[in-house]
Amino acid sequence: MYDYVIVGAGLFGSVFARQMTDAGAKCLIIEKRNHIGGNCYSANLGGIHVHRYGPHIFHTNDDAVWQYVNRFARFSRFSYRPKVNFRGELYSFPINLNTLHQLWGVTTPQQAKERLEAERVKIEQPANLEQWALSQVGRELYETFVYGYTKKQWGREPSELPCSIIRRLPIRLTWNDDYFNDRYCGIPEGGYTKLFESMLQGIPVETEVDFLSDRCRFESMGKSIVYTGPLDRLFDYELGASDWRGLRFKHQLISQPDYQGVAAVNYTDAETPYTRCIEHKHFEPLECDHTVVTREYPADWSVGDEMYYPVNNDAGEALQKRYAAKLPKNYLIGGRLATYRYFDMHQVVASAMHMAKQQIRSVETIYPLRR
Ligand code: FAD
Repeated sequence: MYDYVIVGAGLFGSVFARQMTDAGAKCLIIEKRNHIGGNCYSANLGGIHVHRYGPHIFHTNDDAVWQYVNRFARFSRFSYRPKVNFRGELYSFPINLNTLHQLWGVTTPQQAKERLEAERVKIEQPANLEQWALSQVGRELYETFVYGYTKKQWGREPSELPCSIIRRLPIRLTWNDDYFNDRYCGIPEGGYTKLFESMLQGIPVETEVDFLSDRCRFESMGKSIVYTGPLDRLFDYELGASDWRGLRFKHQLISQPDYQGVAAVNYTDAETPYTRCIEHKHFEPLECDHTVVTREYPADWSVGDEMYYPVNNDAGEALQKRYAAKLPKNYLIGGRLATYRYFDMHQVVASAMHMAKQQIRSVETIYPLRR
């Protein structure tokens, strides 16, 4: 009998399993994919670590989280400085003084501030994402950086989307073009999969096994179930399916040492069907005469597709709550799928560590964990 049967070998399941195993609990992980690591998984393609489910940059301000992940891998220093390609013109991104200098010729923060004020469209109460963005940054910045990208990402006109989708449009009136402002930022050397292998050492993991294919048997094997999959699927969609946006990735091995000179180029026009082109070797600089690029295509989602971005509208939130209310008492849930939330990796690590801490406290009052 296991103390915990953990469904999903992604970041949440793996951190929780490591913490509870170290505390003396007996854990088993069930993973339906043929690999560990969930969406952080990296595949080795010609010596290059390819982020199979989209580019993953680990960034955090949390000392405990950073120290924790560094137990399992050495992180290379990495600053995320993507570029924007809008109809063939390349811009510095996120929008900063370099970008505004390119667009408007301004050279100081004060000049940029004044120009930005003049550009803003006066809209008292923005009713949708388009109006909100126009009121924040004006038409030129909106059309160059927001309109096409948002339309592709969400499959709808920004004028039909709620303001809440983009909570802020970061504009820096400095020359700093580093995307993340966090104290720590890096990429695990040797790829994310190596980090997960190290984290899961000594913990049994069954891959290519869907928990739901033999749910009763797996439930009978564990005192508690830690479920990191989607709740609607757990209940066979009996209340309906939650809505997601999908993504398709096209990976390409190219016989040249450097394709675009940077890890990521965002394509912000509406005509290019993909939103990003990722060149993986720039995450971990590697001298070799080939390279791998991945183009990321936003896609409509239907039941059975991989889930990427939750569509957190009122109906989706209400459905999630109704499913959560149906969970059996010995179920714990965590991670992006089960909570129907977008989380960055550091948030997932922190929440799994927190849940493990709570378990260790509560379980020790009932029966002492083996040590
Ligand atoms: P997952 O990684 O999805 O793991 C859940 C696992 O459960 C999966 O492996 C799944 O196969 C398994 N599972 C589900 N149901 C079952 C079942 N019934 N039986 C068995 N197994 C099951 N975060 C950052 O911090 N930096 C970034 O740069 C970044 N880039 C991102 C780019 C993209 C395109 C996306 C979509 C996300 C990005 N993220 C990034 C977020 C990051 O991917 C998540 O924080 C992280 O993967 C969440 O881990 P998780 O364990 O919650 O979920």
